[in-house]
Amino acid sequence: MFRALLLAPPGAGKGTQGQRLADRHGVPHLATGDLLRDHVARGTDLGKQAKSHMDAGRLVPDDLVIDMVLRKIGGDGTGEILEGFLLDGFPRTLTQARFAYEWGLQFKRTFHAVIMLEVPEDELVRRLVQRGEEQGRSDDTEEVIRERLAVYEDNTAPLVDFYESRGILVRVDGTGTVDEVTERIEAGLEPMVPA
Ligand code: AMP
Repeated sequence: MFRALLLAPPGAGKGTQGQRLADRHGVPHLATGDLLRDHVARGTDLGKQAKSHMDAGRLVPDDLVIDMVLRKIGGDGTGEILEGFLLDGFPRTLTQARFAYEWGLQFKRTFHAVIMLEVPEDELVRRLVQRGEEQGRSDDTEEVIRERLAVYEDNTAPLVDFYESRGILVRVDGTGTVDEVTERIEAGLEPMVPA
């Protein structure tokens, strides 16, 4: 069963590639950004707590995000735990990564692969500004985009070492067409994922 994490800066195409990967491998696509935006839209307690962090381009506190993901995967003790999943945008901090690893060891749900999409910063800003104009996402303005990229560097880049040292990091060039990137991801994953 396929369990993987998609790790990439804002604007690198996580959402698109995440959905494709999940479909190809027959597992749910769990994108924490989408889940959080849904909570905000529904005005849940979590959404109310998360909104100000998201609008400022900062991360939502670890404990809130960890609880939300556990509830989705069934790891909160209330039901069956999903065997396979494609996590998109989680873990995003070392605290989240350490938690996910310990939890995964306990419940036999560690990741087979971590796919890291690499895209140069000026290309990311260009794509995000364009998305902001097209979709009107409240955190896709130039000022917030810069903050989100800085937050990624500070919090998420250390995860690269964490996963590299475990031998499961797959680096993928995220430039080019959507199909080209998908092909590169699948080629990189082939040796990592059980048949
Ligand atoms: P994304 O759609 O992945 O770019 O996420 C949008 C926003 O949701 C981020 O800028 C964060 O504020 C929040 N978010 C998503 N995933 C996480 C996470 N794993 N930890 C903390 N905050 C997150």
